[in-house]
Amino acid sequence: MLTFQQIHDLVTFDGGSDLVLSTYLNLTPDRQIRRTYRVAFEDLVRQLEETISGEQRAALAREAERVRQYLEAALPPGRGVAVFSCAPRGLWEAISLPVVVGESIYLGRRPYVRPLLDVLDEYERYAVALVDKEKARLFTVYLGEIEEHTLVVDPVPGKHDEGGWSQANYQRHHEAHVYWHLKRVADELSALLRRRPFDRLVLAGPEEATSELRRLLPRPLRQRLVATFPAELFASPAEILDRTLAIEREVEREEDAHLVERLIETATARGLAVLGFAATLEAVWTGGVHQLVVADGLEHSGSECPGCARLSLDVPASCPVCQDHPQALSDVIERVIERTLEEGGAVKSVMGSAADRLRERGEGIGAFLRYAVG
Ligand SMILES: [Zn+2]
Repeated sequence: MLTFQQIHDLVTFDGGSDLVLSTYLNLTPDRQIRRTYRVAFEDLVRQLEETISGEQRAALAREAERVRQYLEAALPPGRGVAVFSCAPRGLWEAISLPVVVGESIYLGRRPYVRPLLDVLDEYERYAVALVDKEKARLFTVYLGEIEEHTLVVDPVPGKHDEGGWSQANYQRHHEAHVYWHLKRVADELSALLRRRPFDRLVLAGPEEATSELRRLLPRPLRQRLVATFPAELFASPAEILDRTLAIEREVEREEDAHLVERLIETATARGLAVLGFAATLEAVWTGGVHQLVVADGLEHSGSECPGCARLSLDVPASCPVCQDHPQALSDVIERVIERTLEEGGAVKSVMGSAADRLRERGEGIGAFLRYAVG
């Protein structure tokens, strides 16, 4: 499973003169048949090979052979795999991804981690409580996978067992029982939150059960509640997963939109935020980025100065700050992301209409700052 530590280790890895090969492959069922992901890999290698020469080709041949052996050995688990290899520096990391990624290959000084970050970013940890009046099933959903945890069963006594009870008495008894059951579900959810912290909570089941449970949720759970949907208690985990992933996408889109609006407002009011390439590169250079916000897929060529680490959209013959010779980068945005993470800042990649809005108002990039710059 993908962890923040793995990402951190990859982000801070620098191969120097030794190049790192980063490979992303899909392992969807059509790819697994006759293991055609190996063919896909060879195609990517061939395409990359045509664009490079000399030492780069030698490095590609060396690292591609390691990846090839790994792919030959066995089918990697998961729906996607990310492989990072730099033999001279002892780097080998094969990360199974439970989600499909865009297939790509990169050769460079550093591991290409942007697609991995997008995976982490897109998926929060969700808990789902599927309830009715006498049973409950608790699930967690993370990175596109569902796990079932707890079954709570508090059978409501049958009407026929309560001989001699008046209808009114039975009704009170029944309601008390349902209340007690749902209170217990809320307690189990609190226990799950402590044991396996989650970001969001979803309730599912007949409306009368979910609305009663919602009233009984303590504050930490209520704050995490994002949606409720009707479902039968015997719904399959696959069904619950589908509904939860749809909710997750919706929540993510709304959050992206809010974040971009807040960024634009703060920058426009000259608060602790900047918009656009020039101001963002400047903020990254001074280490002042608290959170970088970037439109999904944004790329721009540029350069980085080895002397003073200044980032630029062009490649000046000599650095205006320290007169050193900046190195050309095919994608300076990738470095902007890496440098932000190295400095302890956060990175948020936004999609859809939020990305369009950010492109329209800030060239697709901006940042919240730790302190005022300039
Ligand atoms: Zn410089």
